[in-house]
Amino acid sequence: MFSIPDIEQRLSALGANTAHRERVLRHWVQALPLTQGRRKLDHFLPQAVRDALPELMADLDGLTRLVEEHPGADGSARLLVALRDGQTVESVLLPRDGLCVSSQVGCAVGCQFCMTGRDGLIRQVSSAEIVAQVALARQRRAVKKVVFMGMGEPSHNLEAVMEAIQLLGTVGNIGHKNLVFSTVGDPRVFERLASGPVKPALALSLHTTKPGLRRELLPRASRLTPQEIVEAGERYARETGYPIQYQWTLLDGVNDGDDELDAIVALLKGKYGVLNMIPYNSVPELPFQRPEWEKARDLARRLHQRGVLTKLRDSAGQDVDGGCGQLRARAAPPQRGRTIPIQSAD
Ligand code: SF4
Repeated sequence: MFSIPDIEQRLSALGANTAHRERVLRHWVQALPLTQGRRKLDHFLPQAVRDALPELMADLDGLTRLVEEHPGADGSARLLVALRDGQTVESVLLPRDGLCVSSQVGCAVGCQFCMTGRDGLIRQVSSAEIVAQVALARQRRAVKKVVFMGMGEPSHNLEAVMEAIQLLGTVGNIGHKNLVFSTVGDPRVFERLASGPVKPALALSLHTTKPGLRRELLPRASRLTPQEIVEAGERYARETGYPIQYQWTLLDGVNDGDDELDAIVALLKGKYGVLNMIPYNSVPELPFQRPEWEKARDLARRLHQRGVLTKLRDSAGQDVDGGCGQLRARAAPPQRGRTIPIQSAD
């Protein structure tokens, strides 16, 4: 489970300087074959690095292994990806060269409508394993956007996710606004994201305007209220120039009523952001239902009329939270998460 700094140290021990390290990492994360630019590489890298390169690349390629691929009708494909210790995570190839990656095996937030949340946190995904999901996807198709909306809560694995974002936004050749950090909202996130050299775009999962209902639906999210989350999001959006993507999984009869509509208008009207409403994908194991498309469209239309930029989206697999974790749940018997302490900022 090594990290990106571990890879850099391994290269440094062989005599690589910053430019050498970046060249090797670029080859890996961009999935360039070692034969590409071979002469330049041979000329450029110290002999010890060249000698060690095949073994290092084999180790990096071995971080992830594709177990299953499930293509969708819209050009997306869900990938079940095995890590070196046999744990599995999901990545989703999205239409228009996007990729959704996982940042944890399991998740401690325990959202009531999410398969990943059922088993708790099993382990963190290292920064190298996050980037390896991108390298694996790039062996199949171009990746120009990476969203952290797969399994896990990125704010609970913050340093590893930020290491991956730093690499992807530099030698990984992904535009900073095309890196999307998605979170249920944690006070540490707003400060940490704003302080890095690569500032990603931010998606905030709201799901409801009601603090009590939110605590029920997202039992181990931070205690920030929806109002506080939006205030912090607004500051980040103004600072970076990227609008916030507010995520709202529509659950029939739970968070799609007129009471929510009025409160959403009060909360989001005039804010620098867009509200993405995604009708839930029902799964047999969980009690929530998907609202009728017509009902969802009417809600989105009325919000739009009242001044909230709202997009109703059918899932490409990545951001219907109830869909996340299904492949893994089907492929492996449920594994109860050990209780791994999460540094809480509450
Ligand atoms: S929806 Fe996201 S934050 Fe909630 S339990 Fe699932 S993976 Fe974790």
